[in-house]
Amino acid sequence: MWFGVVSLFPEMFELARGYGVLGRAMTAGSVIIEVFNPRTYTSDRHQSVDDRPYGGGPGMVMLYEPLVQAIEAARTAAPSEAEVVYLSPQGQTFTQKDAREVSNRESMILICGRYEGIDQRVIERVVDRQLSIGDYVLSGGELAALVVIDAAARLLPGTVGNQASIIEESHLDGLLDYPQYTRPEIAGGLSVPAVLMSGDHNAIKAWRRDKAVEQTYRLRPEMLTGRKLTEEERLALARADLT
Ligand code: SAM
Repeated sequence: MWFGVVSLFPEMFELARGYGVLGRAMTAGSVIIEVFNPRTYTSDRHQSVDDRPYGGGPGMVMLYEPLVQAIEAARTAAPSEAEVVYLSPQGQTFTQKDAREVSNRESMILICGRYEGIDQRVIERVVDRQLSIGDYVLSGGELAALVVIDAAARLLPGTVGNQASIIEESHLDGLLDYPQYTRPEIAGGLSVPAVLMSGDHNAIKAWRRDKAVEQTYRLRPEMLTGRKLTEEERLALARADLT
């Protein structure tokens, strides 16, 4: 998948190449990140990319023209028609469903703001959608863009070694993942649940389903609001005295 990223800090995306699943996907070429720096599209001596806000107030605002030209360059370079997404605390919150949807695309353009944000007219003229990674304010959109890229990249076929691990994980079917254990059998005075060492695959599957429901109820109860529980899920909560 191709990501055209509009950012004043291209080096932040190069760093990703060195680490983990996303790094391997970049090296293998299944994820391509091409950065378009608005500073390249300035015409003044100082290569200005920001200016003071009209109406006064603190901070600076990213200029319309260098941003739009960088976005146009990204559009031209994209292998296919690309949606233009502005990472913004004002956007819809990015979810696992969105990650899946992004991973099904061939290309996407991500705009990273800095300072007090970008000129509103960029949003009105060229942005298709705004995405937030949560209800807090970052100093720039680069980390948010990397979150979107990472979450989508690991869903691309072949990116994560064991595909089963992306089939059974948190948020996939509206539940959190079940608890995981590895060696040793006793750690911190706590034992691995006996069922996981029983070799009984049906019992393990049932235990994991129950724990996923329990874990969701205990840690993120709002995820179950409006969800029609299956009979098995209802029984799992009853067994754990959670109803
Ligand atoms: N003044 C803006 C506001 O209150 O909406 C915040 C600007 S923020 C300091 C600078 C940039 O960081 C934004 O333009 C955006 O690209 C990025 N950013 C900040 N928080 C974000 C979030 N929660 N999700 C995605 N991007 C975010």
